[in-house]
Amino acid sequence: MRYSRFFAPTLRDDPADAEVISHKLLLRAGYIRRVTSGVYDFLPMGLRVLRKIENIVREEMNRAGAQELLMPMVQPGGLWKKSGRWEKYGPELLRITDRHQHESCLGPTHEEVICDLVSRELRSYKQLPMNLYQIQSKFRDEIRPRFGLMRGREFVMKDAYSFHADEACLAAEYQNMFATYNRIFTRLGLKFRPVEADTGSIGGSASHEFHVLAESGEDLIAHCSKCDYAANVEMAKSKRDVPTGKTTALTDVETPNVTSAEDVAAFFNTDTAQLVKTLVYHVSGGPEDGNIVAACVRGDDQLQEIKLIRALNATGIEMASDEAIKSVGGIAGFVGPVALNCKLLFDDTLKNSTGLIAGANKNDTHLSGLDISRDLSSAEFSDLRETRTGDTCPKCDGTIELSRGIEVGHIFALGTCYSEPMEVQFQNQEGKRTTATMGCYGIGVSRLVAAVVEQCNDENGIAWPAHLAPFQVAIITMGKSDSGLEASEKIYHELQDAGIEVLWDDRKERPGVKFKDAELMGLPVHVVVGDRGLEKGVVEIRPRGDEKTEIAVDTVLSSVQSLLSGSHT
Ligand code: ATP
Ligand code: MG
Repeated sequence: MRYSRFFAPTLRDDPADAEVISHKLLLRAGYIRRVTSGVYDFLPMGLRVLRKIENIVREEMNRAGAQELLMPMVQPGGLWKKSGRWEKYGPELLRITDRHQHESCLGPTHEEVICDLVSRELRSYKQLPMNLYQIQSKFRDEIRPRFGLMRGREFVMKDAYSFHADEACLAAEYQNMFATYNRIFTRLGLKFRPVEADTGSIGGSASHEFHVLAESGEDLIAHCSKCDYAANVEMAKSKRDVPTGKTTALTDVETPNVTSAEDVAAFFNTDTAQLVKTLVYHVSGGPEDGNIVAACVRGDDQLQEIKLIRALNATGIEMASDEAIKSVGGIAGFVGPVALNCKLLFDDTLKNSTGLIAGANKNDTHLSGLDISRDLSSAEFSDLRETRTGDTCPKCDGTIELSRGIEVGHIFALGTCYSEPMEVQFQNQEGKRTTATMGCYGIGVSRLVAAVVEQCNDENGIAWPAHLAPFQVAIITMGKSDSGLEASEKIYHELQDAGIEVLWDDRKERPGVKFKDAELMGLPVHVVVGDRGLEKGVVEIRPRGDEKTEIAVDTVLSSVQSLLSGSHT
C-alpha cells in the first residue's frame, strides 16, 4: 500500500477523552474512529489487525473441531421470552419494535438463537456432540462504555455453543476449549492467565475467564504465589484466622463521635479485625426479591457484592436507604446484626468468632462482647469477603497476590439452563427424549485488539508483534529524487511479491514526520531509502525501536525475511 493513497489519518496529540493507552494509540495511529458512545469505525489498518486476530481464533476453533456459521444480529423477542431472559437481562439488552409491532432485540449473545436452530434440527444422539461458532458483532447497551475497544456497546465476539448427549461429553469439550483458548492467546503473544470465574447472568456450573494481565484491566484477579490457583476476586476464596476475643456479656457502650472503623477500634483498644461491619441491601430477584437483607464482614474486610448476590441467588443488590434501614430496626452509621429484623448473612470468617464489636442500632452506641453463635442463632454463613493481597491460598499455604486483568475470553459449562426452556431435545440411545447439555465459549475479538496494544507499546507508539501488525514493513523514502522513488518502488514490489505486507511512505512529507508515523503505527521493520545511501548502493534497515544497519539494496528482501522470522510467534 502506498501511504499517499492510504486512509490512515494520524493525530499528533493524545485525544482528550482517551484514558487508557490502547484507546489513545489506536485513535492517534489511525486504527479506529469513534462514531458514537461505545461504537467505533475500524479504519483500514484497524480492520487488518482485527482480521488477523479473527483468523488465529478461527484457525484454532476449526482445529478443535468446531464449525463456523453466522447468525443474525437482530433476534426475535419471542425467543428471549421463551428462555426467560427478556425480563431478566436488564437494560443492556437493546429492545426494538419493528413496523409490524414485533418486538426484537440486538443480540448481546446468541444462546436463544442457536438453541432455536438446533432444537429444530436435532433428532438423535448420533448427531451429537457438535460445537458451532461465529465471529460477529454483538450489541450491549453498556451503562459505561469506555476505554475505546475495551468496553464498547457494539463489539466483535467469537461465540461458540456446544451440544452434548451427557455431562461427561460436555466436560471433555470444556477441556478441549480450555486448551484451545490457551493456544489462541499464546499464539497472539499475550501474557495471560485462565482464572476461575463467576457464572453471572449466563448461568451454568463451571466457568473460567481468560485474562490478559494489564494495569488498565477492569477486573481484579487473585492468584497464588506458589500453586496454580487463580480466580476472579468476584469469587476468589482464601483462608483466614478466626477473630477471637475475650468472652464477655453483650454490653451497650456509648461511643459519641466515634464513627470510622479505625476510631471504633481505637476506642475499644483493639484492631479492626474485631469489628463487625454490617451492610444493608435491597435485593432484586431470587427468593429474597424485594426484601432487605444485612450482610456482615470483619471490620478490616470489604464485602464482595457479587458473592453476596450469588449467596442470595439474586439478580442484583442495591445499598438500602436510611429509611429502609430504619424499617428493619437499624440506624444508619450504627447498624449491627443484633435485633435487626431481616435476613442476616455473615462471612465465613465470623463463624465461631467471639468478643466482637458491632453497631448497636442505637445512636452513638456500639455493642461489645458479641459472640455470634451465642447471640445470633439464626445467622447464616457464606463466603462474602473480598480476597486481598497477603491472604492464604485456599489450595495450598502460598500467599495470594492480586493483579489487574482484561477479560478476553470466558468459557462456561452451562448444563441445561438454556436447552431446557428452549426445548433442545434428542432421542437417546434407549429411544427416550432427552434434553441436550450445553457449553458456551466467548472471546472478545475487538477487545483483543486493545489488549494486545496494552501489552505492546512504548513511548513512541504501538509495537505490534510482526504477525499481528497491519503491515510488517514500512518503506520510508527520504529524498524527493526520482532515483529514490524508483529504488523504493522496486523494493516495495520485491517485498510484496514475496508475500510481505508493506506500507510504502511515498508522501511528500519531511523524514521526521514519516519516522514518527511509522513508529506510532507500530510497523515492525522500517526500510529507509535515502539519496545518499543509494549512491553507495545501500539502504538502512531497522527493527522498530532498535538500531539501524546499512545493507546493500539487493539484500533487502533477505534481511527483512530474517528479521521477521526472528520475531514471528
Ligand atoms: P465483562 O465482565 O467484561 O462485561 P462479560 O462477562 O459480560 O464481560 P461475556 O458475556 O462472557 O462477557 O462475553 C464474552 C467476551 O466478550 C468477554 O470475555 C469479553 O472479552 C467480550 N466482551 C464482553 N463485553 C464486551 C464489551 N462491552 N466490549 C468489548 N468486548 C466485550
Ligand atoms: Mg458484561
